[in-house]
Amino acid sequence: MPVIDLRSDTVTKPTEEMRAAMAQAEVGDDVMGEDPTVNRLEQMAAELLGKEAGLLTSSGTMSNLIAALSHCRRGDEVIMGSEGHMFWNEVAGAATLAAVQVRTVPNDSQGRMDPGDVEASIRPPGNIHFPRTSLLCLENTHNRCNGGVLTPEDTRSVSEVAHANGVAVHLDGARVFNAAVALEVPAKDLVADVDDVSFCLSKGLSAPVGSVLCGSQEFVEQARKWRKMLGGGMRQAGVIAAAGVVALETMVDRLAEDHSNASRLASGLSQVPGIRLDPGSFQTNIVFLELEAELGSVHEFISRLNQHGLKVSYPGGRRIRLVTHRHISPGDVEQAVDIVAKVAREQRKPAA
Ligand SMILES: *Cc1c(COP(=O)(O)O)cnc(C)c1O
Repeated sequence: MPVIDLRSDTVTKPTEEMRAAMAQAEVGDDVMGEDPTVNRLEQMAAELLGKEAGLLTSSGTMSNLIAALSHCRRGDEVIMGSEGHMFWNEVAGAATLAAVQVRTVPNDSQGRMDPGDVEASIRPPGNIHFPRTSLLCLENTHNRCNGGVLTPEDTRSVSEVAHANGVAVHLDGARVFNAAVALEVPAKDLVADVDDVSFCLSKGLSAPVGSVLCGSQEFVEQARKWRKMLGGGMRQAGVIAAAGVVALETMVDRLAEDHSNASRLASGLSQVPGIRLDPGSFQTNIVFLELEAELGSVHEFISRLNQHGLKVSYPGGRRIRLVTHRHISPGDVEQAVDIVAKVAREQRKPAA
């Protein structure tokens, strides 16, 4: 039985062109700064994002952790969104390894933070009892908030508040190219107001491994040292970077297909009795649905979807997450909606 895998865009496999580029990549020892393919990828990424320099890391999680290590001292406070990936899904790395205290500010349904809330959460200087607030972390697109997109203005308004108070701004832009494609603006316009940005090569962009952290020359120099400490100094990493170069060259514009498939998926699902979802709230490739009580157990629902060949992910509560990507066609979307409708019919219980 063919499987429709909507768990994540991380399941995308490298293209033939990527595999060929990896096989033929010119390489050197990147810890010595001598891998030409890594250097090329880092430079390409920095240029695309309008920053001075870039650093290839093994994952988005490593990039985010390195950002916290680079901007903060032990005992500082970092502001994160209440639904942020760094808060939910990175094993408390910032708290454990960067030794910072995390303070959350509410995210709205699209992942935005209110500038007033951010301002109120920054510690005033001069009080001996208080930690120093050193970093604000934003996310674009926002994974847990419906794949929501921050516009350049959204980013500017909170970044200005941070900067006015001496607080640096890190953007977890794991899917920042999805945001750029959704808004039809150059990615660099989305990151102009942040100090540094990290994006993933290994999600919708389909590369097998890697993330790039971009910022000022000085920031990246420091970040490079932290990467080494974390064990992220990879030697002939050009083999990985070669796929990243192809990803940036060939995989960005096609993200629009994932968005239109997600939009079709959302409107299909919104027609299914017992499924709650507002198709207008999804701007990119991530869709969430909520199961009404009449559909019974979420775990049972998901396991029946699996039996019918549909894989999804479970973020908690009564929600199910579905993510479109390069291996999902409009036909798969139609079939996914049919499977959800079938399982919903099977599980539907008459109201008590
Ligand atoms: C996936 C993701 C990450 C982490 O990336 P990995 O490469 O899986 O470690 C960070 N932030 C967001 C928003 C993500 O979606």
